[in-house]
Amino acid sequence: MDVWSIASGSSGNAYLVRAGDTAVLLECGISIKRIATFLARVGVSPFELAGVLLTHDHSDHTRAARQFSEQFDVPLYATAGTLGCTALRETRRAHVVSAERPFALGELEVHAFAVPHDAYEPVGYRLIGPSATIGIATDLGFVPADVQRQLLDTDLMILEANHDLEMLRTGPYPAFLKRRVIGQHGHLSNDATAEALIACRDRAPGTVWLAHLSPTNNRPDLAHGAIASRLRQFGLGHVEIQVAERHRPSLRWSATPRPRQLALF
Ligand SMILES: [Zn+2]
Ligand SMILES: [Zn+2]
Repeated sequence: MDVWSIASGSSGNAYLVRAGDTAVLLECGISIKRIATFLARVGVSPFELAGVLLTHDHSDHTRAARQFSEQFDVPLYATAGTLGCTALRETRRAHVVSAERPFALGELEVHAFAVPHDAYEPVGYRLIGPSATIGIATDLGFVPADVQRQLLDTDLMILEANHDLEMLRTGPYPAFLKRRVIGQHGHLSNDATAEALIACRDRAPGTVWLAHLSPTNNRPDLAHGAIASRLRQFGLGHVEIQVAERHRPSLRWSATPRPRQLALF
């Protein structure tokens, strides 16, 4: 099982998951050209994709979704709330996902779970493959108990670390936007991400990709340093922490023959 980060952040998100013959795109918020170029580089044809999974209807997650689905005849999977947005409403190959109904997508078992965010019916996903379990939770204002449970025992967790609270407080965002980011339906701070991981104790993810970092209110070194040092304080120094870059393919994780992390480029 392999996972790649293609792009991560408010300018656009896309990740690729491959388990045996099943390849799935997670999010479709960058251009088709960029996704197709990346897929060609790793030897995956867009026509072979088993599906595109979307978390919510913000354009940094869905920008190219409908066009991608139609151009390559790939089904889209998202909640009814997400599929109801104007950009996706007419999508022909749409499948409704709901938090209570896990389903099989090729070799992957897909579990959606609700997250608190200012979109209509946003979710994260837990994907159980033959050799590993991975999760994604980005764009959430806090980590409720239900989401906390989804972090447990994952081999790879793609988890938001959007902002450093001090950088946000003293930064250039207008007050209303600061309130939105910090609010219960906004985005996760480095501190909140660290606390959620610490609460997993000995069931913490093997590897964590810090994702959806703000270019204005966070820095990769700051997020990595803050979270890694908090984890070390709580005896979780073995959890591998990596930062997904915003604008280019940056990380690859592979479950076979044994968990390891590789820089792609
Ligand atoms: Zn987003
Ligand atoms: Zn969002």
